Amino acid sequence: MIQSHYPSFTRKEAPKDEESYNAQILIRAGFVEKVMAGVYAFLPLGLRVLRNIEQIVREEMNALGAHEILMPVLSPKEQWQKTGRWDSLDVLFKLISRDKKEYALGPTHEEVVVPIGQKAIFSYRDLPFGLYQIQTKFRDEPRAKSGLLRGREFLMKDLYSFHTTVEDLEIYYAQVLKVYKKIFTRLGLDAIQVEASGGSFSKYSHEFQVLTPNGEDEIIHCEKCDFAQNREINESKEGDVCPKCQAKLRVSAGSEVGNIFQLKTKYSTPFGLSYTDEKGEAREVQMGCYGIGISRLMGVIAEVFHNEKGLMWPDAVAPFRAHLIALTGQDENQNKIIMERATRVYETLQKQNSTVLFDDRENVSAGQKFAESDLMGIPWRLVISQKTGEQIEIKRRDEQEARLISLEEVIEILK
Ligand code: ATP
Ligand code: MG
Repeated sequence: MIQSHYPSFTRKEAPKDEESYNAQILIRAGFVEKVMAGVYAFLPLGLRVLRNIEQIVREEMNALGAHEILMPVLSPKEQWQKTGRWDSLDVLFKLISRDKKEYALGPTHEEVVVPIGQKAIFSYRDLPFGLYQIQTKFRDEPRAKSGLLRGREFLMKDLYSFHTTVEDLEIYYAQVLKVYKKIFTRLGLDAIQVEASGGSFSKYSHEFQVLTPNGEDEIIHCEKCDFAQNREINESKEGDVCPKCQAKLRVSAGSEVGNIFQLKTKYSTPFGLSYTDEKGEAREVQMGCYGIGISRLMGVIAEVFHNEKGLMWPDAVAPFRAHLIALTGQDENQNKIIMERATRVYETLQKQNSTVLFDDRENVSAGQKFAESDLMGIPWRLVISQKTGEQIEIKRRDEQEARLISLEEVIEILK
């Protein structure tokens, strides 16, 4: 992308009405814009990051064998009354149409997916299967002060699985646990598996938590073994003894990036979701549900990967692989040569399928270009100036010193 053609959304100051670090830095760097508390617009750079996160999640869902669908945001009151959640779910956004019909804006999709799954389930031969979507969710969150970590409108991946037996559900559930670990590793995150309340149908659910100071959850975790529980089910204090290995427990703030539940028959019962078994008898379908906060992940990554100069995106989600900066000066003839060389480098890298943001702006100072580049946090910075001659100055966002290398070497590195 050519930067002079691109609207510049970066700004020097953080917005005054934004408390959270992730939204402050993402707004300053031009990735998102705040529309109101808990509601953000994704700008071109931010959307590229969001799509990269989404794509990694999608690839791993497909590898698991789940099938992608897209359910509506709007659903009828009757479906939510069936499960009792029209009245019990306090975060449910409700709408009234002009002819006085009532609707919900989906905060999660069990009430919508169960009747859909039902259409494909007759006998045990039709099971198991998994359906997932990546879609906008709405929740009337009371506190929406954590930027992308807690939206009133946000992007979630939600997967629902359908099974004949609890044993089959448990096998699938264990596979999803592994897939989730892989997803967070691919995203560059260290997410720990934490036990949390499971509601009425299983003892625990599992959350994936990224430990970060601005996270909204409190996690009790062992400094030695993998024991970790959410504060909501564990009262321990810092320094208490780990019930699993007797080492010391620690208490840290965390942000929940994923959550998986064994629903069992919680939603099958109200919808009469059943199948006939080998003996021809009707049995209730066993279900699981598995969420990942796609837009929250973008906020968490911003919380974890930054320094005083700005963002530092992990390679897997970065909006571009490289930021190519042309530095011109006073000498018109020299400037022409620099711009021609930079354009050639840009075009060559494009042909190699490297994503590059090309800062070709001629009326912006070197200092401002570098400061904006650091703020945006693209992994590799390439500079072409009068000083660099036939070579290119390269530096990773997290390195101090730049070095001069050939275009061939740059191509190798960016591969
Ligand atoms: P929390 O405990 O943080 O309120 P939850 O347990 O209600 O979340 P789930 O219903 O399990 O959330 O949703 C699945 C995932 O969606 C969560 O693990 C989280 O990553 C993300 N998520 C939930 N609520 C929000 C929100 N308001 N804004 C952004 N992401 C969210
Ligand atoms: Mg949760």
